[in-house]
Amino acid sequence: MSKIPVAILGATGIVGQRFIEMLDGHPWFEIAALVGSGRSSGKTYREAANWVLANDPPERVLDMPVLPLSVEIPGRIAFSALPTDIARTIEADFASAGFVVCSNAAAYRLEPDVPVIIPEINADHLQMLESQRRRGWKGLIVTSPNCTTTGITMAIAPLHKAFKVNRLMATSFQAVSGAGYPGVPFLAIQDNVIPFIPGEEEKMEKETRLLLAQMVKGERREAEITVSAQANRVAVIHGHTVCISVGFESRPTVEEAQEAIISFRGSEAVQKLPNAPVCPVILRQEVDRPQPRQDRDLDNGMVCTVGRLRPCPILDLRLVSVTHNAIRGAAGGSVLNAELLKAEGYIQ
Ligand code: NAP
Repeated sequence: MSKIPVAILGATGIVGQRFIEMLDGHPWFEIAALVGSGRSSGKTYREAANWVLANDPPERVLDMPVLPLSVEIPGRIAFSALPTDIARTIEADFASAGFVVCSNAAAYRLEPDVPVIIPEINADHLQMLESQRRRGWKGLIVTSPNCTTTGITMAIAPLHKAFKVNRLMATSFQAVSGAGYPGVPFLAIQDNVIPFIPGEEEKMEKETRLLLAQMVKGERREAEITVSAQANRVAVIHGHTVCISVGFESRPTVEEAQEAIISFRGSEAVQKLPNAPVCPVILRQEVDRPQPRQDRDLDNGMVCTVGRLRPCPILDLRLVSVTHNAIRGAAGGSVLNAELLKAEGYIQ
């Protein structure tokens, strides 16, 4: 089988670099185009990118040209790591031109015909693409959730499935790489916690309800969960930590909740995707885990690690989650979405 050519929009940024790392040697996809802003286009990737990852960039991308944003570039899938304001117009242009757009930007997440997908949780939301056809695009757009929302929703999805969550309080401790490159100034974040990230709390509240929505006759019915979110930026490089309290329709014991998490899996089809982890949610028993430095890279950064599962005197249970913001919360999540779209026949 020849591989499907893919383009990375925003290839020089934090998420773009993760896309390159994940797509290098991918069994189904191969990088055909790297796209950047006017700052980078016309340069080689080697000249344009401030590479920040621990491993060196793959040799084969170093001399690839960084192309300007245009639908004339090669590729059938466009992985978008663009800033949201630019994504709004550009992603529609790419979908209209026939690309399957897998986006990390917030631009289309709230549209009623654009699914926000975590394959292990809501692969059935791809049904929404039927109504997207009305836009007349030759391609389509599927989005990944906000990186902090990923860590909340993956942690509570097994509990919601078994016991129906109806109230949720989530306080995040978010890594600086979540703000892109160059991100938050050192003098603002070192020795500090910044208790405000623009738009983040609204995304955590709304997108959690969207991801856990049920599909009824092809329509997404938002989950009836009251969510209270508080977002903080902390001096961690990668990995978002979230402290979560949950209330349920039918309150489980701690042991029942543990069992629901341990046994949680995606569908059989999802488990077969090349980048699907065996267990999407890992439960740690140690009193001081999860921690971002120790748990963010587990299973190539594709899992959500939870721990400190215990009773909550205000709601029913509480726990802590750690998720790699730029892998499972961004590039890895989008690559998994593209794998799902391919497996489900949306990409030929
Ligand atoms: P970033 O490091 O600031 O990178 C932004 C990228 O967009 C760069 O490649 C940049 O290219 C490109 N770009 C900016 N303006 C452009 C323009 N006018 N035309 C073409 N390309 C342009 O940001 P990031 O952290 O990778 O985030 C990318 C997207 O993913 C954002 O929507 C963000 O909200 C979302 N996201 C990020 C994370 C995370 O953990 N960082 C997690 C989830 C979602 P140049 O370098 O050439 O200027």
